Amino acid sequence: MSGVFLHIDMNNFYASVECAERPDLSGRPVAVAGDPKKRHGVVLAKNQVAKSFGVKTGDTVAEAQSKAPNIVFLPPHFDKYDKISKRMFGICNRYTCFVEPFGPDECWLDCTQTVRLFGNGKKIADSLRESVKRELGITASVGVSFTKMFAKLGSDMKKPDATTVITEENFRDKVWPLAAENLCGVGRKTSEKLRKMNVCTIGDLANADERVLVRTLGKNGADLRLTANGRDGYDVREAVVGRDAKSVGHGLTALRDLVTDEDISTLVYYLSELVSARMVRYGVKAKGIAVHVRTNALTHSAKQTTLPFPVCSSSDIAAAALRLIAEVRGELPLRSIDVSAFMLSPASAPHQLSFFDDSLISAKNEKLDEAIAKIRLKYGKTAVVRACHAVQDIFTDKDVGDFLPFKR
Ligand SMILES: [Mg+2]
Repeated sequence: MSGVFLHIDMNNFYASVECAERPDLSGRPVAVAGDPKKRHGVVLAKNQVAKSFGVKTGDTVAEAQSKAPNIVFLPPHFDKYDKISKRMFGICNRYTCFVEPFGPDECWLDCTQTVRLFGNGKKIADSLRESVKRELGITASVGVSFTKMFAKLGSDMKKPDATTVITEENFRDKVWPLAAENLCGVGRKTSEKLRKMNVCTIGDLANADERVLVRTLGKNGADLRLTANGRDGYDVREAVVGRDAKSVGHGLTALRDLVTDEDISTLVYYLSELVSARMVRYGVKAKGIAVHVRTNALTHSAKQTTLPFPVCSSSDIAAAALRLIAEVRGELPLRSIDVSAFMLSPASAPHQLSFFDDSLISAKNEKLDEAIAKIRLKYGKTAVVRACHAVQDIFTDKDVGDFLPFKR
């Protein structure tokens, strides 16, 4: 029996949450923006009407206004989005215990075992959409398929408020004509490499010579080919909903070998900013910091440490990670680094202060991160960057939201 996977994606999430509370704005273009009063803010989300005027996420307030002159700007309320997000995962949990979040507004459901209770995948998808709409006032798109990755593609195909079913019979017609970069796991670099091999669509990928793909893309090439053929074999990880995250981590393979201490700290500070931003978003601090490094000869080492008190600032995380790397690093240049934080506790929980430790400096570091996040929210992520990140050739950062303590 083949699997029944669903992927649900709430449409225009932040904007939808705001609009659900403001029926008076119905029919008007609306955007959630960093600081609507100033003309410098950046559009974080827009409703369907604003989208029809060509307003895009990342547009400045001024740009959005020139596209849609009567647009209404609203400030973001991340605590509210968090609550709605949890309620959506809760609704999903009624249909299966296998729910895997992928960002605040989307998740996968494995309903293979529960179709007998609820009918078929399409019925579950429609009922799920109706429940979300009725209870949260927000529309969602749902993809249903026999693989996890096709379900995700499906949720993207018809928006808003729609169900798309991709079956073993129709996937060649529905999925294969799409551009390869629509597949989860095909980033900009991969899609460039694919294009050079004349692999442009998912169908091209499905029918490409496996050896050629592996030669250029490594194991990922073979995995992508299987995905394109509807044989990805990925599972939906069992419900993390209701259970708290055990760790928060980020890892990256550098664009070139990391040779000097400066190379390493450039990447470590970047990863630490990402980890810190997510911890702030989750409202947690960590007492444990772990690193995992891979050399250019593909050897691995890992090390972790426990700190005297919980931290969440990027400087504290980076300092601990760099101490660990100094201990495990051998002679070889490094190729990839993972930084993660564990032993998480609520940021609001009281913790023992000491006159002898660095907790005061730590509190200052947190304030600094907070101030930087506010500036980035208002003026864009490049408004403030660490000096080591101003000019570097170690990574490319693509996700505008990543530096802000709210978006995945
Ligand atoms: Mg969405």
